[in-house]
Amino acid sequence: MKVLLVEDDRALGDALCEALGDAGLLLERAESGGEADFLVRTEAYDAVILDLGLPDGDGSRWLAEWRDDGIELPVLVLTARTRWADKAAGFSAGADDYVTKPFETAEVLFRLRALVRRSHGHAHPVLRIGELTFDTHSGSVTLAGRPISLTAQESRLLAYLAHAAPRVVSRGELAEHVYDRDHEPDSNVIDVQISRLRRKLGAPRIETLRGQGYRLVDGAPAP
Ligand code: CA
Repeated sequence: MKVLLVEDDRALGDALCEALGDAGLLLERAESGGEADFLVRTEAYDAVILDLGLPDGDGSRWLAEWRDDGIELPVLVLTARTRWADKAAGFSAGADDYVTKPFETAEVLFRLRALVRRSHGHAHPVLRIGELTFDTHSGSVTLAGRPISLTAQESRLLAYLAHAAPRVVSRGELAEHVYDRDHEPDSNVIDVQISRLRRKLGAPRIETLRGQGYRLVDGAPAP
């Protein structure tokens, strides 16, 4: 999961990045609305964490512009304000959820995971593709009931494919959502990591569609 954190308070931003990074999320940062606006329009994210009190304007104003321009990604608003009117303005601008400062970082993580799951159209926290399960809350993976151990990178790849399933995901889309923008891999690197995932999950579970990309499938042998 790749998330843009828009927060001008460096210490708070550092703490959130560390906690969410430890949970396996990829974080990119912006410290102003203008910087966030540029990134939201040029990079691919799964969600945005948006502080409302930014140096170049209220976060809800930037958010309203994104929504007007058809940008649909989930937005979790962070606000130090407890006034009802500020929360209402955030929702009115198009926020999907909010957390009031001070907050537990675990709460931000749980809300983000639920928002991303919902944005892919899933209600149940455990995604099932045949005998494979991916728990969107804990990140744990099982195959036919047995736990499967994945590296952080493999876990991000599988999470993206599982949220998208049964849709086909191109290598370019995977590169944007699963890797840091400063370290976007060429397609060979993705192919190698998909091969490692296949060894752990069973080759038929990740289908390659030539010229299109990958998708997770049931994996049951054809009748
Ligand atoms: Ca602020």
